[in-house]
Amino acid sequence: MERVLIDLKDKSYTIHIEGGLLKSLSDYLGQADKWLLITDDHVDQLYGAAAEDALKNKEMYKVSIPPGEGSKTMETVEKILASMIGFGLTRKSKVIALGGGVVGDIAGFCASIYMRGIPFIQVPTTLLSQVDSSVGGKTGVNLPQGKNIVGSFYQPEAVIIDTDTLKTLPKKELVSGIGEVIKYGIIYDYNFLQNIKNNFNEMMELQGETMKNIIKKCCEIKAEVVIQDEKEQGLRKILNYGHTIGHGLEAVTKYNKYTHGEAVLIGMYYEALMAKNFGYIGKGYFEEIEALIRKVDITLDITEFSLEALVEAMMKDKKNKEGKISFILPKERGQVKEVLLSSDEVVW
Ligand code: NAD
Ligand code: MG
Repeated sequence: MERVLIDLKDKSYTIHIEGGLLKSLSDYLGQADKWLLITDDHVDQLYGAAAEDALKNKEMYKVSIPPGEGSKTMETVEKILASMIGFGLTRKSKVIALGGGVVGDIAGFCASIYMRGIPFIQVPTTLLSQVDSSVGGKTGVNLPQGKNIVGSFYQPEAVIIDTDTLKTLPKKELVSGIGEVIKYGIIYDYNFLQNIKNNFNEMMELQGETMKNIIKKCCEIKAEVVIQDEKEQGLRKILNYGHTIGHGLEAVTKYNKYTHGEAVLIGMYYEALMAKNFGYIGKGYFEEIEALIRKVDITLDITEFSLEALVEAMMKDKKNKEGKISFILPKERGQVKEVLLSSDEVVW
């Protein structure tokens, strides 16, 4: 078993990482009068029974939502809140989020506002949610006007990562998580980047020990960043490497072509290229980043989109400042920096 303590004083919690943890879920949940399991229909089919079995001696209810980003709406929140009232959940009840980032973000948001906040526990089942969305305490939903526009900072009581759940993940979703994994190496820890490179095949084959170590390291890095900057005032923006161009690509393709992590992988490639062209990093390091990104089965060609359309989409990013686009670019091995560029300065 690997553990990562997220040290946020009175809001501290532990991330538990091990294959097969779902079976012993109840060991990590503490006490409550009632439990609400929130999941999506895919995950419910795969793991709902195992979770329910682990909770069989408790007063437990379940809400399952349709899978996918389309569910991350206020309408879903209202339905879940209505169920919470219907099931008679009290301030002593707890929510369990079983699923990917969509389930985690919605369930966390519902837990944060129901009766002004009841505890919740994350059981992330995608690689992306295990290394990223379940750490850091951001919850929320989309509005027609924008992604993640409504939400709260709300820390879970515990995060329980069963690495075995990754075995059923579709390849595209695995690649999505790999994008964020590689990101941590580039923004924070060159040794880790080399580890990823050296264990690449084991990672793609989801070998247990390798996955446990990789997920732990990612959680540690995200935790270190988040602990230093819980409410996103400074350091936390380094997590945005690959995301400026990545979000641009997601926007111009109306979120239909790429998973988030695929867009981030492509974004990391072009942002590394920008860093090389601006002279922040040398050719050697750029080629290291490029070689690793190219190991992932993904096409980096984005010539079908015009630079103007991408820049226009990037201009809408909420991280921008004073009309300039915020880029996080590599500056040396394991380090990045923020660079603000006006729209006509963006080239790669
Ligand atoms: P997701 O939750 O939509 O899951 C992707 C797909 O995989 C879904 O169809 C789901 O049903 C399925 N799935 C989940 N676990 C599975 C398993 N073990 N086996 C087979 N299929 C499984 O997507 P995601 O990539 O996990 O999360 C994306 C969301 O996370 C976005 O909404 C994004 O905004 C959010 N996010 C939040 C944060 C944060 O800090 N809160 C950070 C990053 C991303
Ligand atoms: Mg991301």
